Amino acid sequence: MPASILESALAQFHAAADQLSLSQQHRDYLTSFKTTYHTEFPVEMDDGTFRTFQGVRVHHNIARGPAKGGIRYDPNVTIDEVKALAMLMTWKSAVVGVPFGGAKGGVVVDPRALSEGELQNLTRRFTSELVPIIGPDKDIPAPDMGTNPKIMAWIMDTYSMSHGYTIPGVVTGKPIALGGSEGRFEATGRGIQYVLEEHLAAEGGLVGRTVAVQGFGNVGGVAAKLLHQAGAKVTHLGDRFISIHNPAGIDATSAFIYTQAGGSLADWNREFGHAEEIAAADVLTADVDILLPAATESVLTEENAEDVRARLIIEGANGPTTPEADAIFMRRGITVIPDILANAGGVTVSYFEWVQGRQFLHWSEDEVNAQLRKIMAKAYREISSRCPVGGEGCTLRQAANWIAIERVLEAITLRGFFP
Ligand code: NAD
Repeated sequence: MPASILESALAQFHAAADQLSLSQQHRDYLTSFKTTYHTEFPVEMDDGTFRTFQGVRVHHNIARGPAKGGIRYDPNVTIDEVKALAMLMTWKSAVVGVPFGGAKGGVVVDPRALSEGELQNLTRRFTSELVPIIGPDKDIPAPDMGTNPKIMAWIMDTYSMSHGYTIPGVVTGKPIALGGSEGRFEATGRGIQYVLEEHLAAEGGLVGRTVAVQGFGNVGGVAAKLLHQAGAKVTHLGDRFISIHNPAGIDATSAFIYTQAGGSLADWNREFGHAEEIAAADVLTADVDILLPAATESVLTEENAEDVRARLIIEGANGPTTPEADAIFMRRGITVIPDILANAGGVTVSYFEWVQGRQFLHWSEDEVNAQLRKIMAKAYREISSRCPVGGEGCTLRQAANWIAIERVLEAITLRGFFP
């Protein structure tokens, strides 16, 4: 059985801690969670009955700033998963140098099984439960799997009305009309593109590279579209329901527009794509230059890592690679650009949204994208200069973890302990 994402996150932390010779007290502190808030709450359904749901919000470490992280609606949410994702957020914010700590939240629910009204009831009740622990200076949620700008608007409204005035800074990833940032919706996928361009700059760039993408949502869908537009060839694509392959390249832009308008990838393929349908597992082992797992965690394991044929993996999802698979990739000389760098575009533009909200400013999309590129490129260069690609004895993941842990440790040390 593959390691859980919490086991993976802790194994990665301890490997980096060993290499940094971290003291036991620092290890204990950095693997503890400041707040773990678990709630069970009722929601009225359309037929007048009510159902009880479970929700969780975790703060990992807030030494570098307010807690920041998404809220996930998914039937498989567990407290351990949310803890792991909160910890990854601490490292991610540190890697890109935005002044946040790490948080994550989730509700055990399949949002597709609820009507819009039920989804709104659930969101508003969960937000009411979170009111004591979230806030623009405390903990700022954002979208993640199964949540979106509309849900952020409901969270913002519920939190605001419980205080009696409008507080847009309590969430990021809001609709633009409510103080959302230009470019936030595309930020994670765009960050992936910028990191890839930086990584491939010396080797001729993205044009003509073949790419396999697992996941066609906010991260995978946007990234596939942008990589397609940048001249890469998306040959393999899959979501929860269908996986497709076209050696001549899939028009990811057309597919993304179609799915964003409410259609399914399967329908798009039937009507327009006409790509060959393949098994879901074949996306991960496709014969391509670049593999982008952008769906969910622990999909690259010791079961399939030997079969991966891409020489470059960029982690769009959080925690898609188990430590066992990571060791296999290292032995096989496959480069992995780690999640805490690769998908940090989302938290970076969330930071821009938070800053714009506090300053009552609205940046243009060009400005947002230019600042995003600057931050992603800088973070990539800091990590790759700490561990040159092809260099012996280190990986980009290790270098990213070293830098993140050192930055959090520095903040802890400078602050000291109170009382
Ligand atoms: P999403 O809900 O928008 O999309 C998820 C996609 O993955 C969907 O196309 C779904 O069908 C597909 N999928 C789910 N399980 C699958 C499986 N087993 N096999 C194949 N496809 C599967 O979610 P998202 O926001 O794109 O998030 C995807 C990942 O990226 C998650 O790990 C999330 O934590 C991470 N992430 C998201 C953001 C963000 O800004 N949205 C930022 C950083 C990291």
